Amino acid sequence: MNVPSTRVDVAIIGAGPAGTAAAIRAARGGAKVMVFEKAAHGRDKVCGDGLTPRAVGALNDLEINLADAHRIKGLRMIAGTKVRELDWPKTGRFPDHGAVWPRRRLDAALMDAAAEAGAEMVYETEALPIIDNGRVIGVEAGSRRVLADLTIVAAGAQGAVARMLGADRVADEPFGLAIRTYAATPRHADAHLEACLSLKDKHGTAVPGYGWMFPAGDGTVNIGVGALSTMKGFKKLNLNTLLESYRGLVQDDWDLGPNEERPRAWRLPMSSQRRHGPGWVAIGDAAGLINPMNGEGIDYGLESGMLAADLFLDDPSTAPARYDAIIGERFDAFLRTGRRFSFLIGHPWILRPGLQLSVSTNAIANITLAVMGNLVDNTTPGAAGRVMWLADKGLGVADPVLRKTRAKT
Ligand SMILES: Cc1cc2nc3c(=O)[nH]c(=O)nc-3n(C[C@H](O)[C@H](O)[C@H](O)COP(=O)(O)OP(=O)(O)OC[C@H]3O[C@@H](n4cnc5c(N)ncnc54)[C@H](O)[C@@H]3O)c2cc1C
Repeated sequence: MNVPSTRVDVAIIGAGPAGTAAAIRAARGGAKVMVFEKAAHGRDKVCGDGLTPRAVGALNDLEINLADAHRIKGLRMIAGTKVRELDWPKTGRFPDHGAVWPRRRLDAALMDAAAEAGAEMVYETEALPIIDNGRVIGVEAGSRRVLADLTIVAAGAQGAVARMLGADRVADEPFGLAIRTYAATPRHADAHLEACLSLKDKHGTAVPGYGWMFPAGDGTVNIGVGALSTMKGFKKLNLNTLLESYRGLVQDDWDLGPNEERPRAWRLPMSSQRRHGPGWVAIGDAAGLINPMNGEGIDYGLESGMLAADLFLDDPSTAPARYDAIIGERFDAFLRTGRRFSFLIGHPWILRPGLQLSVSTNAIANITLAVMGNLVDNTTPGAAGRVMWLADKGLGVADPVLRKTRAKT
């Protein structure tokens, strides 16, 4: 039987922030775009819903109206008994505020913007790449074959699509796991995100990661915990138990109501074996673009999606290779340093004093905040930029030792 085929310029697998950002940009630039999303419009995504100023900047670039999001002035960092409440750094390059925008609503706004831009959105339809002689020529989705000049893989944490393309995560690189739920709180409209950096598992071992309270401004707070795979005992770490014990710590301060839904966990991929090939590119989580220092991935999804679309509009034939090179220049050094850093803090005897240092004075805590949020301004790097430069060099030299001495997971 002959399967009918359609031709488009760009086929996109996945309608999260990465896929929709690519769709908005490509469709606004005049390309014929089709987006396949296996879930329904308005689907939820397990996430902390936190947007750094960098992510707000990316949403501004896409001309997304943020009126529905809760505006955030900065971050409260807690390490043991030390508490530092800081406003986001003023960089001149990014906005001076972040936001919390529950993913059900953020992603629906992005999906609607993509449709408005002219992209055809196909929901509740799983798509897989069609590979012909080593080249991706489009996607197969349900009973349809859609041929495309460029296929953009925006399918989130690597799964079936990544396996077909050899784009799985790199086995010995770190990754993260995190869990979240929502709870009612009178402090739902707080102007600061809160991050508790001194999490401990049930054996009292320091956990590299953090517990968060991200006030959503809608009567609830997004409460969650995340951990890096570099910690000792990671394989046995029970995220539900970790979340319960974190809840116990913040319960009174936030006057929390019961969980609004069952806590749900998901993966945070931080590497990818490949992020392009003939006829395709991977963006967002599918390319392993998550910041190991704070678990942030929405911004990287938006930025990589826009970049892939812009390069396609410029020259479809060179887009995949140029995409890979530019993503490399923009993010690789930072994310590599983050991954090396996560080997280091996998050791509790380094993590504990490191934490004390990171919040020891306001000046140092400001650097921690700028570095963690990748808010370092390349043109006027300042102290945070110098710290990143030094960390890149120092951890680069130490890399083989870090890997050899990594904590047993
Ligand atoms: C618990 C947790 C907390 C987090 N907190 C934050 C935070 O506060 N701030 C932040 O910036 N980041 C956070 N992240 C990371 C963030 O959620 C991701 O980086 C972000 O969602 C990546 O966007 P994406 O578009 O690449 O992928 P996704 O948002 O995962 O979207 C991928 C889409 O592809 C669809 N799909 C998959 N396969 C197919 C297929 N074959 N066919 C069709 N559709 C398909 C999926 O249904 C999904 O809708 C968190 C992650 C976790 C797990």
